[in-house]
Amino acid sequence: MAALPRLKAVYFDLDDTLCGYWDASKKALRQAFEAHPIEGYTSEEMVEHWAAAFREYAPTLKGTESYQVYLKNGKPTRDEQMGHTLRRVGVDDARHAEALGDTYGAMRNANLRLFEDALEVLTALKASHPLGVITNGPADIQRQELETLDLEKWFDHVFIEGELGIGKPNRIVFEKAENVVGAKPEELLFVGNSYAHDIRPAINFGWHTAWIRRDSDVPPSVAGQTTKPESKPEGAPEPTFVIHQLRDLLDIVQL
Ligand SMILES: [Mg+2]
Repeated sequence: MAALPRLKAVYFDLDDTLCGYWDASKKALRQAFEAHPIEGYTSEEMVEHWAAAFREYAPTLKGTESYQVYLKNGKPTRDEQMGHTLRRVGVDDARHAEALGDTYGAMRNANLRLFEDALEVLTALKASHPLGVITNGPADIQRQELETLDLEKWFDHVFIEGELGIGKPNRIVFEKAENVVGAKPEELLFVGNSYAHDIRPAINFGWHTAWIRRDSDVPPSVAGQTTKPESKPEGAPEPTFVIHQLRDLLDIVQL
């Protein structure tokens, strides 16, 4: 493997980098549709409808008023998404949608787990580096996740899309992260699971990158479609490192 220079800081993505967000989400969706069933459909079938509704709805969100709401608070778009899901099966019931959305949100948080090597790696790195998080998503949900996982104490700098009003892959977010530690891009490492949101922008802006790839890294929104983790687009730049577990960082970062 290529050797890294001594780094000024290490930044992490949160969901599916440090914690198993997709696994928590999938379990929570099943639990929500079991708790608030729709007559004539199994919970598995309803998860498929949720996934199809997500694929239609999520791409329309950015640039709308709903996106501004979503940045602060995950509930309205979560409930709206459940409303779309129910209408796919001919049910128009805002209260049922809200009950599903609330159960999904609560169970997703309850199911959230750090990857088994996360604390070992954070402990080792924190002894010699400032650490930061750059995460996309609503402010309330991302803060809740950090609290649920008791992660805030590990990080000197936390950048949340919902709090900044802008998220990855926007350059502004990476520049803020550089400035707050007084580092040049080539003195920083970004660790993330998403090639599009984490790795490609970090490469473009001159950071070192560790792309963490796990077989479990498949969102529920691809249910019934491909079940492979995200791959790198043909011809797109290579990350500095491809890793398969957080523990691999201990071999590549000079402690
Ligand atoms: Mg992620």
